[in-house]
Amino acid sequence: MSDRLAEYRGRRDLDASGEPGGRARGARGGPRFVIQKHAASTLHYDLRLEVGGTLRSWAVPKGPSTDPRERRLAIQTEDHPLEYADFEGVIPEGHYGAGAVIVWDAGALENRSRHDGAEISLEDALERGHATVWLEGEKISGGYSLTRMRRSDSGDQWLLAKVDDERADARRNPVSTQQESVLSGRRVEDLEPGDR
Ligand code: MN
Repeated sequence: MSDRLAEYRGRRDLDASGEPGGRARGARGGPRFVIQKHAASTLHYDLRLEVGGTLRSWAVPKGPSTDPRERRLAIQTEDHPLEYADFEGVIPEGHYGAGAVIVWDAGALENRSRHDGAEISLEDALERGHATVWLEGEKISGGYSLTRMRRSDSGDQWLLAKVDDERADARRNPVSTQQESVLSGRRVEDLEPGDR
């Protein structure tokens, strides 16, 4: 169990919220990413990247763009357990992050980070404040960069940008045109309290 999940557990009553506790690890292939659409008090998209046994997480208010010119603010939040990548449901009123969560996109994650011309681990890249990943989701794919702009007690501020590669497409806008969960086909509006 990782200390990196202490903040996650400290914020939550996991029995009441129905969210995973981070104790089980199933059979897995390579690293994964997930983007969860979260209708909390403020709607946002939670980008989570599997790094070293937990999901590094950022809240992206506008969601990811497929247009390299559109950089999106991404506020780093506490690491989440790996099983959180499959979580859909409604976090009850009165609990941290109350509101509906769906798995908006998910897929394989490949580190493409470099420093001074050499490959570096994703963990090192994030520590240094600039990482590049290749995502293979159903809606989001290709290269994305994360660059830390400002450290903050309420969550470091990063910019999420599409790399200008063959998967870039300024005409697509999947945040508005593809709103359904890739797991269940549901939209956040479809979920009701008690749903899983
Ligand atoms: Mn969230």
